[in-house]
Amino acid sequence: MTIKSHLNEVKDEVYKCVHCGFCLTACPTYLVSGQELESPRGRISLMKATLESQIEPNSKTFEHWDRCIQCRACEPACPSGVNYGLLIESAKSGMNEIKSKSFLYRFNFKIIINLSISNWFVSLNALIFRIYNKLNISKIIEKFKLYKLMPSKVVQLEKMIPIINGFPLKSGWYPSKGESKFKIALFRGCVMPGIHGDNMRKTIELLNFLQFDVEVLDDEVCCGSISSHNGDMNLTKELAKQNIDIFLSDEFKYLIITSAGCGTRIKEYQHLFEENSEYYNKAIQLKNKTQDIYEFLYTNVDEKPKGELNLRVTYQPACHLLNTQKIIEPPIELIKMIPGVKFLDLPSSNICCGAGGAYSITQPEWSNKVLNKKLNEIKSIDADILTVSNPGCFIQLQGGGRMLKLNLEVMYITDLLYNSYLKGE
Ligand code: SF4
Ligand code: SF4
Repeated sequence: MTIKSHLNEVKDEVYKCVHCGFCLTACPTYLVSGQELESPRGRISLMKATLESQIEPNSKTFEHWDRCIQCRACEPACPSGVNYGLLIESAKSGMNEIKSKSFLYRFNFKIIINLSISNWFVSLNALIFRIYNKLNISKIIEKFKLYKLMPSKVVQLEKMIPIINGFPLKSGWYPSKGESKFKIALFRGCVMPGIHGDNMRKTIELLNFLQFDVEVLDDEVCCGSISSHNGDMNLTKELAKQNIDIFLSDEFKYLIITSAGCGTRIKEYQHLFEENSEYYNKAIQLKNKTQDIYEFLYTNVDEKPKGELNLRVTYQPACHLLNTQKIIEPPIELIKMIPGVKFLDLPSSNICCGAGGAYSITQPEWSNKVLNKKLNEIKSIDADILTVSNPGCFIQLQGGGRMLKLNLEVMYITDLLYNSYLKGE
């Protein structure tokens, strides 16, 4: 299929755009560049021009589409209701088919995608990063100014090496403390169990404390975000089918997600299948039993946390929680519920931090521009803790904070809740 034929399938969405420009100020890449072609309207214009055969998309066109973080902040800003997520996915699907004509690209792409969705590869990376952290290599580079000898892209990537929190989370059965209200499945995902194993274990302990049985299934696979962001829709469909079969077959009330990107992908599995087909209907069933952790805690827990935490706390929402799942108030309300916490609004918190799945690796320069803008806004308020609701944001903002030597701790909201609930026990 050509890019034009991919876009033809979503042509109605392309023509919904009336070029009003309301989306421009919501778009992080437009905000840092001021360039029309780095905005949603500009990218849609390129799609329209492709559909009308005014242009034959080339590597320059691909650059503008590739620089999109897929944060989807343009969607809630759009009065015409353009589903931009579908548009960029279609364009990238077409791009991927063209690029795949090159054997080298196909070979590299398959290796990178397949490695990045394998648990063993993430665990291996986590182990390497743990050794790196333990040996204090960052400090050694800093002390002896070795970064002067390194290419700037490597310096930037080095600063973003995550701090590993504990050993990888394993699958298993984690019973409620006391009588169980009901059983839930916790989605492990790819990045979070390897990098933030302790944080996931705290989330499970919190859920057990709040009287839920938790199961982490052994046979779940990647949600498909990484492959769909990169235009491999065949792999995304395969992964979606496997997860649908796994999570619909068991006997739990909800599938709980701790990573906003995975949550959006799973809640949108139906878009991958023909309407009313077998898997379309199953995807809707799974969507109805899938909840983000903060949506779940907010709607299913009456007990308030009692442990006092005297902290000034701010919050950077994950784009996929805000713009696609529209879970806006629950995380903030949960933070405000904690005794002693002073909640500080973060200016422009609706704008992405530049993490965007693998964006910080595929587009380091753009990711950094967006991150720097965000860090300046964070600096403008005097918070002790910056809370996040997604592993990508955690790694990006923690790395950025280290780069700028900010005196600020990045935490998941679940960690803060864990500290308060379990302290007040
Ligand atoms: S706000 Fe919507 S209709 Fe207006 S330019 Fe942006 S995408 Fe197009
Ligand atoms: S998804 Fe985000 S980066 Fe991409 S065009 Fe929309 S607002 Fe801009």
